[in-house]
Amino acid sequence: MLEAKNISVFYGRHRAVESASVEIRQNEIVVMLGANGAGKSTFLRAIGGLTPAMKGASVVMDGVNITHRPAHEVVESGIALVPEDRGIFADLTVMENLQLGAHPKRARAHEKENLDRILTLFPRLAERRKQAVRTMSGGERQMVAIGRAMMSAPSILMLDEPSLGLSPLLCSELFRSLTAVKETGMSIFLVEQNAKQSLAIADRGYLLDNGHITGSDTAEALAKDETVQKAYLGAG
Ligand code: ATP
Repeated sequence: MLEAKNISVFYGRHRAVESASVEIRQNEIVVMLGANGAGKSTFLRAIGGLTPAMKGASVVMDGVNITHRPAHEVVESGIALVPEDRGIFADLTVMENLQLGAHPKRARAHEKENLDRILTLFPRLAERRKQAVRTMSGGERQMVAIGRAMMSAPSILMLDEPSLGLSPLLCSELFRSLTAVKETGMSIFLVEQNAKQSLAIADRGYLLDNGHITGSDTAEALAKDETVQKAYLGAG
């Protein structure tokens, strides 16, 4: 479905990501684990067309070459990104934020069905559809951000550290919601530092260290891996 190969990103002379490749298949949850500054956000932004990748990169979505394409074309190809700052409009209501997500051409024909599906998935958003987002809790805002991205009718939802800043209870709720999103047929690619909960819902995972992919395996195998346990699960 999505094949991103040989992604390298430099900020001036600083190499944030070097020759990283991932593959996301249909209807799976894939997590990329990495410490602060490992290059996770940069990698997602490069796939999303928000940060330029170096020559030699290749990003193909459902057979369409979207390498070096601008963000709006990446969205039209079926990839939606929920950025770390969530990218929502705090002064607008829940419904207004969701409606803005339906702007891409691919979303317009099925806007009503998409909206119904999202409101069923996140009943709290349905209850609070007229509430200004700025008055909502962190977890609720994350749901608005995910809902807004889902309004573009993506095949793959990419999430940049969705659990950041959420209480343990809200984290659990968030990861449960992501499993429910997968059940609607979407694929999810998330980058996280919360290894325990993200591996628990993921099918597969990649490890990113200092801009390099240093491992990949099934989520189950990664959760048992000694290096992963030491680095991300507080063991050792
Ligand atoms: P975190 O978990 O802390 O968000 P991350 O794994 O997402 O980290 P990135 O945000 O991708 O990491 O950053 C990777 C490296 O690139 C870091 O050393 C960061 O300081 C640097 N970096 C990121 N954005 C820029 C920028 N716009 N200009 C210069 N350097 C940058």
